[in-house]
Amino acid sequence: MVSNHFVGESWCRNHLADQKLLQLAEKIDTDLTEEARSKGCLPCGGTLHRSDYERKPRGGPQWDIRFSLCCSKEGCRKRHTPPSVRFMGRRVYAGLVVVLVSAMVHGLTPERVRALRETLGIDRRTLARWRQWWLGTFLESAFWREARARFMPPLCPKTVPLSLCQSFAVERRDRLLDLLKFLAPITTPSAWKELVM
Ligand SMILES: [Zn+2]
Repeated sequence: MVSNHFVGESWCRNHLADQKLLQLAEKIDTDLTEEARSKGCLPCGGTLHRSDYERKPRGGPQWDIRFSLCCSKEGCRKRHTPPSVRFMGRRVYAGLVVVLVSAMVHGLTPERVRALRETLGIDRRTLARWRQWWLGTFLESAFWREARARFMPPLCPKTVPLSLCQSFAVERRDRLLDLLKFLAPITTPSAWKELVM
């Protein structure tokens, strides 16, 4: 049973307005990018250089660059986009928004959901697609099939991602960042391709 105390809209709104959280997320993305850069180009062993690209999440937060890397070796030049706690594959919304909003709508009345969508500028079909993605593509992914064993007691699959948020206790900023780090492996464009519906 989903606790209504948790499904407050307040923590979601607080997180989305939390400048410190947004700064920390950017810092984590910088670290993830440096980590990927230190590994070099996997296919050819070449040196990786920063090759960021513009990416503005619809409706905010005010990020505008997705960190990325490119192999410097002539003839390879492979792009390596590292995992991110801010961007989620090719979604036009920030990963943070996709997780929080998808979690929050569980247990809200249709009127509250509509009000929330309108505040954040998310249309009904987009929200329905997110929900379908969590309950279908995400649950069936190789990532989740492997990762779910870490959760004890097991998570309720029917309320993902709310059950994930509850398990991480994301009311706290650092725990929310932990959850986003946990999900980061599926945010790269190459991982995303296997996950898209
Ligand atoms: Zn290379």
